[in-house]
Amino acid sequence: MSQVSPSATPGHAGGDLLDAGAASLTERFEAAFMPNYGVPPAVLVRGEGCHVWDADGRRYLDLIAGIAVSSLGHGHPALVRAVSEQAAALAHSSNLFINEPEVLLAERLLGLLKVPGRVFLANSGTEANEAALKLAVKHARATGRKYYVAAENGFHGRTLGALSLTGKAAIRDQFGPFPLDVRFVPYGDADALKQAVTGDCAAVFLEPTQGEAGVVPPPDGYFTAARQICDATGALLVLDEIQSAIGRTGHWFAHQHDGIVPDVLTLAKGLGGGLPIGACVGFGQAGTLFAKGDHGSTFGGNPVSAAAALAVLGTIERDGLLAHVRELGDRLAEGIASLDHPLLSGVRGRGLWRAIVLTGDHAAQIQAAAQRAGFLVNAVQPDAIRLAPPLVITEEQVDAFLGALPAILSEVAG
Ligand SMILES: *Cc1c(COP(=O)(O)O)cnc(C)c1O
Repeated sequence: MSQVSPSATPGHAGGDLLDAGAASLTERFEAAFMPNYGVPPAVLVRGEGCHVWDADGRRYLDLIAGIAVSSLGHGHPALVRAVSEQAAALAHSSNLFINEPEVLLAERLLGLLKVPGRVFLANSGTEANEAALKLAVKHARATGRKYYVAAENGFHGRTLGALSLTGKAAIRDQFGPFPLDVRFVPYGDADALKQAVTGDCAAVFLEPTQGEAGVVPPPDGYFTAARQICDATGALLVLDEIQSAIGRTGHWFAHQHDGIVPDVLTLAKGLGGGLPIGACVGFGQAGTLFAKGDHGSTFGGNPVSAAAALAVLGTIERDGLLAHVRELGDRLAEGIASLDHPLLSGVRGRGLWRAIVLTGDHAAQIQAAAQRAGFLVNAVQPDAIRLAPPLVITEEQVDAFLGALPAILSEVAG
């Protein structure tokens, strides 16, 4: 019973966890888990608003939100209430039965999208993309199409179907060859897309801004061109909005900024506010490509996750968070852009989804220095730091980070 952290609420996260202490939990993590994640740099035990606490009682401002997931921050009363009440009422129905939250959620998503469509609910991003890919395969079989197009450096997930669409050699190649013919084009190059997409192409998979590549936006007009190319050839346009949607860019969906409508849309991350959920939406005819028996998921449409997602969407609307994201995102970006530091080359992205672009490969050291200074950020690329804070972050919290950033950079610059 030693090392109970001073700030920990008794009984909050379970005595065994707190008693273990960060150092020994880290060792036990390393011994018990497969080495695919390496060893993460902190043990988190508790969160409140935009702050989290580690097992040693240290507090951090969370500027990554569990990879753009904890959209309402931590312990938001609306999310806590929705999850607790639904867990008590009915935690699971399976797809053998209908539950009310899943129906409300599908209707709510379609209402926000303002285009007729149909929803499939999954449990994660990669599963949402697997559903989209199976829709594309059905389209290919029905029309005699033979291949798929995706972008270099794009990220669509780790399961083999989604991985086959992922344009990063380091995580893809060792698991190939893949059963589907996927051809990669440079992201943002409309001419290259036009060349690659013929009447034999079944679907084009793109992110509205490439998240894992380092929050890289395309040039203006790229998605208008992509829409035209798909219309001209009959290929489905599949937008992976797993990271970009649900207010992250200051719009419900990033493609609404571009003023286009995809044929298929995938969602996950921020939708559940921390509860696992994914969604695949098919518009128009793409919404009815699956026949009965073509696809399924035991946990998909889980009522607790659906209730959490409804709480996220309701809170974003009620609290005017889209406008808040635009305002605070601009404040964050302008604050970074106004700093003059030899390690800083610029800032990119939109809303509360930004990359601090560095002059060299210092991201890992800056992430570590930021953590020592009490800020959680993400070294998304060797030369880029990703910021994706909770959508509820305050002006004071943004300013606290901007105030601390020069010293964090200087510690690394030496
Ligand atoms: C995170 C992410 C995925 C994969 O989601 P998981 O929930 O980790 O499976 C797919 N596409 C994009 C754009 C993502 O950001």
